[in-house]
Amino acid sequence: MLAPEVETRPWAEQLAADDTPYRVQLAYLYERSAFYRAKLAAAGFASDRAAGGLADIEALPLTEKHEIRATCTPEDPLGAHLCAAPAEIVRIYSTSGTTGAPSYVPLTTGDVDNWVTASARSYAASGVRAGQRIVSTYNAGPFAAGAALAAFERIGLCHIPVGSGSSERLMRAIELLRPEAIVLTPSYAAHLVEWAAQRGADLSGSSVARVLVAGEPGGGEPAFRTKLEEGWGARVTEAMGIGDIGVSLWGECEAQGGMHLGARGFVHAELIEPETGAALPLDDDASGELVLTHLRHRAAPLLRFRTRDHVRVRTSPCGCGRTSPRIRSSSRA
Ligand SMILES: [Zn+2]
Repeated sequence: MLAPEVETRPWAEQLAADDTPYRVQLAYLYERSAFYRAKLAAAGFASDRAAGGLADIEALPLTEKHEIRATCTPEDPLGAHLCAAPAEIVRIYSTSGTTGAPSYVPLTTGDVDNWVTASARSYAASGVRAGQRIVSTYNAGPFAAGAALAAFERIGLCHIPVGSGSSERLMRAIELLRPEAIVLTPSYAAHLVEWAAQRGADLSGSSVARVLVAGEPGGGEPAFRTKLEEGWGARVTEAMGIGDIGVSLWGECEAQGGMHLGARGFVHAELIEPETGAALPLDDDASGELVLTHLRHRAAPLLRFRTRDHVRVRTSPCGCGRTSPRIRSSSRA
């Protein structure tokens, strides 16, 4: 475990500890975000005091992606939710935008560091350890997934970026450099099983003992996972993030019972009923749409952001000792 004192803290203590940074984040939004000042005032919350603390968050309005997008103009391409001064912004990612033009995700130095910290916890949950080698196959380019790559060095892994352009090159790197782990999308992991079978290559006999899937939903679907584990002769775990909030926010542990919130302390998670938007308790076996709130973000923090990810939650004790809730993604609406 990368940060045992954080990752094993009782969940109720985490929520209590998150109240202060949440209130500070709210005050920051009122001070710096034209978008949230207007949105919260329109909902009847004239000040951060009126908006209350973390226990009152359900009373605040949800944030829809299209609302943010609507404030982006050629003159103001980052949108009215931008809080930081231009000189504070050190990186700008794009989200792929399934509908229409991409939108931009600005980050400060501190934001990048928090993303890497959370991402490192999420990936380390899979069981990869310092001193091991991991092959990555992301051609991340403009996308937030690129920020996850720094997490491998943070864990102490030897990172071997190969990209996804050539399966021959990838297989050769596995054969010669003998990595213990690989990180890739579930669909590419499945493609490589087929690719190896067609060529009579012994993928299940390779050095790879852990296959970390991310970037798409589906890596937790039982039949699909069995196919991957048999094809690779390896343990499969998944990780998940959302560009607007953070990369690899969630990472599955060796107990393989869903993804823990690696971004605990940085992001607050809620569940809502997708049709009505009503808050649902984050109880064991609850399901609904995931809603996320930044707790310590600087560039463009989001409050009660609707992810459109439909998840099932587990809060029962996990064999790994991590205390954050676990989720399994069922679909992205
Ligand atoms: Zn666990």
